[in-house]
Amino acid sequence: MTTTPDLDGLVATLTDLLGERGVSVDLPTRERQSVDGCKLSPILSAKLPLGLADVVAYPSSADQIVAVVDAAVAHGVPVTPRGKGTGNYGQGIPMSGGLVLDTSRARAVVEIGEGFVTAEAGAVMAILENQAWASGQQLLMYPSTAQSTLGGFLSGGSGGTGSIVHGVIAGGEFVKSLDVVHADGSGLVHIEGAEAQEYLHNYGTAGIIVRATVALEPLQPWRAFYASFDDFHDAFAALSEITPTVNPAPRLVSADLPTLAEALPSNPGILPGKASLRAILDEAAVAQATEIVERLGGTVVDVREGAQEIMKLSMISYNHPIEWLQRAHPDTYFHVEVGGAPLLERIDEVHQVYPGAMLHAEGQKGRPIGMLAAEYVSEEEMLAGLERLEALGVTTHNPHQWYVDVRVAETRARKAVTDPSGLLNPGKMPELEVAVDGSNGLMASGKAS
Ligand SMILES: Cc1cc2nc3c(=O)[nH]c(=O)nc-3n(C[C@H](O)[C@H](O)[C@H](O)COP(=O)(O)OP(=O)(O)OC[C@H]3O[C@@H](n4cnc5c(N)ncnc54)[C@H](O)[C@@H]3O)c2cc1C
Repeated sequence: MTTTPDLDGLVATLTDLLGERGVSVDLPTRERQSVDGCKLSPILSAKLPLGLADVVAYPSSADQIVAVVDAAVAHGVPVTPRGKGTGNYGQGIPMSGGLVLDTSRARAVVEIGEGFVTAEAGAVMAILENQAWASGQQLLMYPSTAQSTLGGFLSGGSGGTGSIVHGVIAGGEFVKSLDVVHADGSGLVHIEGAEAQEYLHNYGTAGIIVRATVALEPLQPWRAFYASFDDFHDAFAALSEITPTVNPAPRLVSADLPTLAEALPSNPGILPGKASLRAILDEAAVAQATEIVERLGGTVVDVREGAQEIMKLSMISYNHPIEWLQRAHPDTYFHVEVGGAPLLERIDEVHQVYPGAMLHAEGQKGRPIGMLAAEYVSEEEMLAGLERLEALGVTTHNPHQWYVDVRVAETRARKAVTDPSGLLNPGKMPELEVAVDGSNGLMASGKAS
């Protein structure tokens, strides 16, 4: 192992391992692979470029991922792992250059059994869900970026469709085991249980996920449920009531003000000028949800079935309404992540915190969460707004920074052993043991993206 990066040596080794088509030093490719979904943040966008890969590798199997990481470590070159690059905090940017390890070609679904699926890191979440359905099962959760990868979701994501019942990824029952590679030449390491938790949502800084086994549960007869309201307060009241009370529990419940709803892709279930409530409900819960909507003054616009309709509804949840809002109104809106009962109970005060603020709300296990969109302010004003939200009892997370900000001490301790030369995704660990952004953690162990 060398401490001086030997890029030429690495490129030669990678070309031997992967062939010409498995390695790129082409500038447009390196630029494309050096930025992620952080463009959702105008504050992060203004700081770009934050790093540029020297080389990009495309392993197409678990064994090749291990060989690529071992080669980078042997040549002293930093490694930033990448799935589909949809992470929205800049956590996939190669801040020290070096190698971007694109896992998206290593996407084999290794095995689907009763209650589990094992797949390579680059497997696409939507494909895992489709294959689970074909076996009469469903994933416990998947993100609204359903085209993203399993490794990226576990390392950079938090939750999504399914989180009302199963909570966030970290600390829950979703991850059964991982096969990871460290930056110490020890090859593939299999880990389970509590130890596997130490590799979740810390951006590959302690080890790179090569394969994962995640939990499945029996498939339910899901329906895509669309309702509309004249007054957004009633839509939020319906979200608050439907999320914890309908039986069986919903898989997703989202609600938006009219301006956010209007920015979403055209959909007969979303009416112009109205607040929108959308839910993925078990067919047995549709009548109960309908009663709640109508009692609160809303109208059920549509109830649809089929895998594609369920996926379509998932893909306009979580951060997607913010992304669509930004497309409809370029250079206007930023967002912060928020949560807790006061979010909805004090919504008018919450909306006063930033100019033009509008909440996109999501039902979640235990309490609502959301993304508060607002017109551009400076970074200082954004941070001051977080304090004002906290004073209202709203929990917050600053999505305009790229540091690991959950279980920092544990990640640091593990990384000291698994990455002694600091080659894994450099630049993502905060200098101090505490979060650098003043966040208090939107959820127990994850964020709301
Ligand atoms: C509009 C929008 C909506 C979103 N909605 C959601 C949502 O509903 N729920 C949610 O949780 N997130 C959401 N996200 C964030 C992100 O899209 C997801 O977390 C997604 O699953 C990340 O997967 P990816 O393949 O794109 O990972 P990437 O962005 O490529 O990587 C994410 C992080 O993990 C690291 N990484 C990638 N692969 C590996 C690996 N094999 N081993 C170790 N580290 C690795 C990367 O270095 C990076 O730090 C959203 C983002 C946007 C922009």
